[in-house]
Amino acid sequence: MSLSDELTGSGRTTLIDGMTFEVLIDEEELASRVRELGQQISRDYDGLKPAIVAVLKGSFVFLADLVRAIDIECTVDFLVVSSYGDDTKSSGVVQISSDLTTPVEGRHVLLIEDIVDTGLTMSYLLKNLDSRSPASVKVCTLLEKPSRLKVEVPIHYKGFTIDDHFVVGYGLDYAQTMRNLPFIGYKVG
Ligand code: 5GP
Repeated sequence: MSLSDELTGSGRTTLIDGMTFEVLIDEEELASRVRELGQQISRDYDGLKPAIVAVLKGSFVFLADLVRAIDIECTVDFLVVSSYGDDTKSSGVVQISSDLTTPVEGRHVLLIEDIVDTGLTMSYLLKNLDSRSPASVKVCTLLEKPSRLKVEVPIHYKGFTIDDHFVVGYGLDYAQTMRNLPFIGYKVG
């Protein structure tokens, strides 16, 4: 993978394998915000041993950085979710294709998402988790696109608010590729 950065009048672009990306959030900005979120979560959940539940696949890079910024006792489990739709639009029809390995009854659950777009996935997951009688459920998302929201969902911890672009990188994909880009951005050419 070849990487070359340049600053343009409108923002930052990066050329990767012949594709040009507008960089919305770079590595340093991600690292610094994720550290802040980790510190805030550590303070809020001190003594509560939260059950951190990551929604895969998109959250895997964010989760890996976030849990290392959390310095209290916690557990980590995963939900694999698939949403029917094309590569760039969520249909809102959500299916849990791989469930938690440990019950969350009586636990303080912190759901970790990559992005809240229409809110349909999160709304489905909140209802699903509520039915498992946890002590509490809160949401931590790296990104939110408020302009596309269809269902109001409570977001307790948020990394960044972004405009309506289909973003990739830092775990987020385009047709299962580009998850390995170290920044959040969108393709411009
Ligand atoms: P929602 O149900 O809130 O519309 O969207 C949830 C899921 O759609 C996210 O977890 C993510 O997998 C996918 N998604 C929504 N917006 C984007 C985007 O801009 N880029 C990528 N890669 N995935 C997105």
